[in-house]
Amino acid sequence: MRVIVTGGAGFIGSALVRYLVLEKGYDVLTIDALTYAGCEASLQAVDGKANHHFIKADICDRTAMDAAIGSFRPDRIMHLAAESHVDRSITGAADFIQTNIVGSFTLLEAARGYWSGLEGLHKAAFRFLHVSTDEVYGSLDDEGLFEESTPYDPSSPYSASKAASDHLAKAWERTYGLPVVVSNCSNNYGPYHFPEKLIPLIIINALEGKALPVYGKGENVRDWLFVEDHARALDIIIERGRVGETYNVGGRNERRNIDVVRRICSVLDSLVPADVPREQLIEYVTDRPGHDARYAIDATKLETELGWRAQETFETGIEKTVRWYLENEWWWAPLRGRYDGERLGLSNTKPEQV
Ligand code: NAD
Repeated sequence: MRVIVTGGAGFIGSALVRYLVLEKGYDVLTIDALTYAGCEASLQAVDGKANHHFIKADICDRTAMDAAIGSFRPDRIMHLAAESHVDRSITGAADFIQTNIVGSFTLLEAARGYWSGLEGLHKAAFRFLHVSTDEVYGSLDDEGLFEESTPYDPSSPYSASKAASDHLAKAWERTYGLPVVVSNCSNNYGPYHFPEKLIPLIIINALEGKALPVYGKGENVRDWLFVEDHARALDIIIERGRVGETYNVGGRNERRNIDVVRRICSVLDSLVPADVPREQLIEYVTDRPGHDARYAIDATKLETELGWRAQETFETGIEKTVRWYLENEWWWAPLRGRYDGERLGLSNTKPEQV
């Protein structure tokens, strides 16, 4: 099995590459532009393996995509490369429009060119998985869950750009017959998570005795999934998912942000006791503009049709995650130079020139 993973030096992409290379034994080509969020160190576990290859390239570069796909000759393309941080998309959306929309379009076209030249069984078996987020569905009240049929209603520049790319991926299946499957997943957490996102930021700030910023009143609810559960889901979806379909991925682990932060504090306090309980470092800060109240995924289709189940609960997953950050400062300490915790994503930023 020959698989291209775009964005494989990122958080979820690197978990997927480790899984496909080390556990499944597939031949994997990682394509990644190594933006601020990309990290070669996240691929250390597969470095030097005969079944892993890496190309530094931008998915917006059609020539590079044609060359990479044409020479590697994949059976599958799993597309994760994206600008992924909501706050950055509020501060400046241009990179999100470029990578998430133009880049996805470029990759779809390169994949279509390659696939249309295939024949027989190879052509019939080829699959393109477009990896997306539940944020495309907008915000929920206290009740209800996102289903695959929930209408799109994105709130942030990030989720709007992902929604656009989901529509492109579906259109390439309907119009050109490219065998595309789409997955929409809830919030991920786990090892190798860039420290601008809530969970790693809180773990590292708490370890360093710094303030723990919580947006608004901390009442926004997210449905958390351990990243290795997501990696397994993606492999199952591209293997067994029906062409043209969407599969929602979620761990049935809804938590308020404030409860996530408190949980991290208590796990850390038990593993590395501090002079005072770390909850005392919590600071409520100005809310994110357009902050969706609640996300919650109904993953029944993935569970019943394809037989996937999340293996981690939030409690087991968060303990593993905290322990990983305690044991892997070599990975995260250098990244503090790329992002040192400054506040991003307030709406008073200047409009961008395009
Ligand atoms: P990430 O920001 O950690 O990683 C993104 C990777 O893409 C980085 O390695 C970066 O270098 C690379 N990249 C960015 N622009 C590129 C370009 N133009 N060309 C090539 N590579 C480029 O993101 P993540 O959290 O791992 O998310 C991966 C995918 O999963 C994204 O498509 C995201 O929308 C989706 N997703 C994320 C979550 C989540 O909770 N993190 C949840 C659901 C879906």
